Amino acid sequence: MSCIFCKIIKGDIPSEKIYEDEKYLAFLDIKPVKAGHTLVIPKKHYDNLLAAPDAELEGLLDVAKKVGVAVMAATGSDGMNFTSNIGVSAGQVIFHTHFHLIPRKTGDRLVSWPHREYANGELSKIGQAVREKITSQKA
Ligand code: 5GP
Ligand code: ZN
Repeated sequence: MSCIFCKIIKGDIPSEKIYEDEKYLAFLDIKPVKAGHTLVIPKKHYDNLLAAPDAELEGLLDVAKKVGVAVMAATGSDGMNFTSNIGVSAGQVIFHTHFHLIPRKTGDRLVSWPHREYANGELSKIGQAVREKITSQKA
């Protein structure tokens, strides 16, 4: 078992825990984007957010919301990036489902990511492609 987060759950690797129950754990990220940057994870191992069952994610979201409100209050933040990286291309490094809660303050000068313009016809084309995939998921 080589997953770092599973080792944190077991207590084999120390962490600054801020919330724990039977199914979920929240602890501070060791290399924070901002002080108070928190990771919220299910105790069961799934490789990423999309690989986890809906029931597991519903509980994870409940915990992340409760912890997120506390992180914002404790850090005096007025915003928060609530994200989950899925796959290497998206920056995922630890392949155990997790939400990042990154507290933000007005004027903290952290740029999230750049935006671009759509080329002619590109917006409706990608919209149609995604709608078709959703329809085939329902079938
Ligand atoms: P990812 O890039 O997979 O979405 O995020 C993984 C996060 O886990 C990173 O922000 C990284 O700093 C954090 N991390 C990696 N190893 C450890 C560790 O041993 N302890 C803690 N607390 N955080 C870790
Ligand atoms: Zn794991």
